[in-house]
Amino acid sequence: MTDLQVALELIRTVPDFPEPGVLFRDLNPLFASAPAFRVVIDEMAARLPEDVDVVAAVEARGFLLGAAIAVARGVSLVPIRKPGKLPVVADRVDYALEYGTASLELPGGVLEPGAKVAIVDDVLATGGTVAGVVELVKRAGATTSVVSVVMELAALSGRDRLDGCEVQALQVL
Ligand code: 5GP
Repeated sequence: MTDLQVALELIRTVPDFPEPGVLFRDLNPLFASAPAFRVVIDEMAARLPEDVDVVAAVEARGFLLGAAIAVARGVSLVPIRKPGKLPVVADRVDYALEYGTASLELPGGVLEPGAKVAIVDDVLATGGTVAGVVELVKRAGATTSVVSVVMELAALSGRDRLDGCEVQALQVL
């Protein structure tokens, strides 16, 4: 097994979280292993297209990955936050969840028009969350160059909601 495969083996599947019937992929054992976290960050950072100049990291687990990737690549970090956290808000998007809706906000004055953005999160499931971020990036006059995740749950067809954006996933289940 490669070091990356060893790292990905640390992701555990927790049944019935956050609600009955859901199989939750828990990355905490991976984050808790220094060599595993490093190999995952190195791999995600290395795969990003050359022209990416901003990492947009999705609250909350996307922050852990996105911050480290931004530092590794020497590019800007823009946290995409849940509502009510930001003192200066540029824009807000509301998106559908399986049950109900959720919202995300873009901080004001930090994402330049024309920027080439990598959206980073831990898991791509139905794609609703990342599709919301793609919309925020577009409205800011920037471009989503790539969506980078540790794990893609392919059965949920998340990438079909992403306007043809390139998706990089270390593991596709
Ligand atoms: P989506 O909007 O694609 O359905 O869900 C993706 C969002 O929900 C991501 O921000 C991700 O963190 C979270 N998420 C959904 N399913 C899982 C899961 O099984 N494990 C983890 N760690 N996060 C999940």
